[in-house]
Amino acid sequence: MIKTADIVIIGGGISGVAIGYHLVKHGAKNVVLLERDYLAAGATGRCGAGIRQQWGSALNCKMAQFSCDFYENANEELGYPGSIEFYQGGYMLLVTTQKELDQTIKNITLQNSLGINSKLLSIDDAKSIVPFLNTDMLLAATFHQKDGHLNPFNTVQAFADAFVRLGGVILTNTNVTSIAVENERICGVDTNQGHISTETMVSAGGGYTQEIAALAGLELPLYSERHNILVTEAIEPILSTMVMSMSLNFYCQQVPHGSFLMGRSCENQPLDLRITADSHFPEAMAKTITKIMPPLANLRVLRQWAGLYNISPDKHPIYDRVIDGYYVAAGFSGHGFMMAPATGQCIAEIILGLEPTLPWKQLGLGRFNNNELLEEPLVV
Ligand SMILES: Cc1cc2nc3c(=O)[nH]c(=O)nc-3n(C[C@H](O)[C@H](O)[C@H](O)COP(=O)(O)OP(=O)(O)OC[C@H]3O[C@@H](n4cnc5c(N)ncnc54)[C@H](O)[C@@H]3O)c2cc1C
Repeated sequence: MIKTADIVIIGGGISGVAIGYHLVKHGAKNVVLLERDYLAAGATGRCGAGIRQQWGSALNCKMAQFSCDFYENANEELGYPGSIEFYQGGYMLLVTTQKELDQTIKNITLQNSLGINSKLLSIDDAKSIVPFLNTDMLLAATFHQKDGHLNPFNTVQAFADAFVRLGGVILTNTNVTSIAVENERICGVDTNQGHISTETMVSAGGGYTQEIAALAGLELPLYSERHNILVTEAIEPILSTMVMSMSLNFYCQQVPHGSFLMGRSCENQPLDLRITADSHFPEAMAKTITKIMPPLANLRVLRQWAGLYNISPDKHPIYDRVIDGYYVAAGFSGHGFMMAPATGQCIAEIILGLEPTLPWKQLGLGRFNNNELLEEPLVV
């Protein structure tokens, strides 16, 4: 067991491996990632892995653009011999209310001004992309071809392999059980495999970030909520794009081998880190999806599961130093997978004192004390 590290990362999800990779890429040495189960055991291995650049704030547009550009070149950048399977079939966001339409026009203007070539679709345009879409409740839709989805397991492996190749160390089955703090400074972590002395650690614990903070006697303004998702049998390709609606509360995509992945937010979900399946979810999901894409009524559901959204008061992540040597990257709500390359870059810049590539100064903890909550109309 390693006894000392310059930097310890807690959590082997997409955030942890992306942070590890960006740290060693920028020259950090002796970086160790600790994961209590296996890589992608948390929300990362349970998510839809949808990637979009259609956002309503400049901050999120820039973070998503950075991440999407990274993912487009990730096989080469990370030297991955397989493929992260980034399929850019586009995202279609449905618009069903006048308020949503007014906001959508503002969103597209912003996105286009930042070089994101999204466009407003008429109902006929939307039908030409998804011919079996029920357009009864639709006013319009938006579309951006470069959005899409990828394979979360391959992506985590690609980051992890590159991290290790550049000198990082990954220890799985290694549970951090306490965090040593002296005079408000981090001085080490205890694990079920032994103690590691370190002056710098990053918590990338997803839904367990509050638990990890408590190990150091800290509290963070975050909570975790169960979210459900299901997968159907595979059929021939009929849906090339991710279809999503904030007002109708769903997302749905057909993945390369033919299955459909779909999810929605459900009411009264437990906040106690439970990830057992919600028995009401499949029926609610089926009612929603068959109204919007009626032919999907014939699909058989293979499996449902759940994972944790980790949520901050404004549903934007927290990238910050909490006390000396304790850094956090959490609170991603439903979009931490797509933002992971930006997370890795920003946290590496914060820890290593590099010039900001992205506007991460807006994502500090200070915003909650100063009543400067961030706004984003397109957050799930
Ligand atoms: C159903 C669902 C669908 C989603 N769909 C999307 C989507 O389409 N697009 C998107 O961008 N995002 C999506 N998300 C959100 C996304 O999954 C998360 O934001 C992202 O995966 C968070 O990654 P992470 O690495 O921060 O956390 P996690 O993946 O949760 O990783 C945290 C890791 O920390 C480990 N850990 C915890 N405590 C300890 C400890 N004490 N010691 C050692 N290790 C510890 C855990 O085992 C875990 O592996 C979805 C989430 C869910 C639940």
